[in-house]
Amino acid sequence: MQNINVKCDKCGWNKEVSGDGFREWHNKVCPCCLDSVIIDDKDMAIFLMVKEIERMDKELGGDGEPQYHYRFDTAPMRDGKLPTITEDK
Ligand SMILES: [Zn+2]
Repeated sequence: MQNINVKCDKCGWNKEVSGDGFREWHNKVCPCCLDSVIIDDKDMAIFLMVKEIERMDKELGGDGEPQYHYRFDTAPMRDGKLPTITEDK
C-alpha cells in the first residue's frame, strides 16, 4: 500500500502515514502549530478518491502492484483551486 504524506497547510508540519493511517488525522488539529486541521472533510474526499483510483489501477495492473504513483496536494483547494496532482516516477 502506498504511503500518504499528511501535512499542515499552515506551518508545513508533515508526516508519512501508511495505508489507512491518514484516517486518524481526519479533523485532527496540527500537533505543531495547533492552528490548522490536518485533514478536513474536503481533504478526506480527495484521499478517498485517490484510494479508489489506486484500487482500480491495481485491478488493471493485475500483478497487485499499482502501475502509477500519484501525489495529491489539497492545499490549493483552500483558495478555491483544484488540488495539484503529480505523477511519481
Ligand atoms: Zn501546523
